[in-house]
Amino acid sequence: MNSHRITLEDRYCAHNYQPLPVVLSKGKGIWLWDENGKRYMDMMSAYSAVSFGHSHPDLVAALTHQAGRLAVTSRAFYTDQLGPFLQLLCEMTGMPQALPMNSGTEAVETALKAARKWGYKVKGIPDQQAEIIVCHGNFAGRTTTIVGFSSEAQYRDGFGPFDGGFVTIPFGDAAALEAAITPRTTAFLVEPIQGEGGIIVPPDGYLAQCREICTRHNVLLICDEVQTGLGRTGRLLACDHEGIKPDGLILGKALGGGLLPVSAFLARRDVMGVFTPGDHGSTFGGNPLAAAVGHAALSLLHDGELIAAARQRGQHLLDGLHAIRHPAIRSVRGKGLLIGLELDPAIILARSFCERLMENGLLSKETHYTVVRLAPPLVISAAEIDAALRIIEHVFATLTTPHMEGCT
Ligand SMILES: *Cc1c(COP(=O)(O)O)cnc(C)c1O
Repeated sequence: MNSHRITLEDRYCAHNYQPLPVVLSKGKGIWLWDENGKRYMDMMSAYSAVSFGHSHPDLVAALTHQAGRLAVTSRAFYTDQLGPFLQLLCEMTGMPQALPMNSGTEAVETALKAARKWGYKVKGIPDQQAEIIVCHGNFAGRTTTIVGFSSEAQYRDGFGPFDGGFVTIPFGDAAALEAAITPRTTAFLVEPIQGEGGIIVPPDGYLAQCREICTRHNVLLICDEVQTGLGRTGRLLACDHEGIKPDGLILGKALGGGLLPVSAFLARRDVMGVFTPGDHGSTFGGNPLAAAVGHAALSLLHDGELIAAARQRGQHLLDGLHAIRHPAIRSVRGKGLLIGLELDPAIILARSFCERLMENGLLSKETHYTVVRLAPPLVISAAEIDAALRIIEHVFATLTTPHMEGCT
């Protein structure tokens, strides 16, 4: 199966990914088709960016309509699209102001800059001394600053020197947060559920405890919901599971409706207020095309039906996975439609499990060698969840392990 397209991509594209050997050429809803017309269920959703399914008619209509009217102006001018988009975004998330960017990484960088400047100008931390607390296993993007606080050796190797200013604590341990805070701490940056880190769900009550600790120490709680936000975990925000409101919120991925990179940093007014004209910016951030698509994406979540469906389908998938008995399964975990299936690498690597899923018409991708990510578009139906479970059960049933061979 060595398609010409694979040869071309391998020859001309940098090898910073190791794609599964499938050449996709079409998508609709939860389905993808390869160049030979074979159909696959998408349980990957482009790392949760395609929450509304591929080519959602409302989103494609918003995109094409706006592309024909006005696409990019830069923020040197006001547009008729940005205000309504950010109004809806702020009203839905309960945050007072937003700064629009493109990729999730840029929105994280924006949050880091806001947190540092707030630390100096508002909290009164001495210049150059602000500390930001992060968690072991975090993923927040790939810029040099961000990989500088990654605990993943490969993300850092060869890319230093790094600036510092970050303190790492274990994820899911509120006491460790309290212990790490000093008078120089300006913010705590955390994913409510670690996505790339292996779909790690912290103990119940963790975020609420972090909220209380941050408030007591005048430290900004900044939630990176680039992956967990916008309905993915069965609530609009993963923070909503614990009824807390962060001081800073980072959104991306699904905000662009699976069509464009659209991200935003949202914050309290006194935090966003540290930015003055010329401090920060982006040529494409907040462009009218992105704003129109972002507005249409939020509109699909506004009545809450899709989010409630994600909650139910997610429980259905989780229950179905829990019911599978196989020695290769180490753990099944997640919330809503962000689910991780951790496998015993002595029996099968997550990568080869994903290859077998692919042969059976289901696309997903491993994270961290041992975890198979299951994060379909939120529009998936109950019958389609059952079909996915049958494929997963079939792959387990056809796994011959040395141990099992000995038994038969
Ligand atoms: C994907 C991701 C990012 C980075 O987003 P990009 O659009 O890839 O730059 C940041 N934070 C989290 C939690 C993510 O999952």
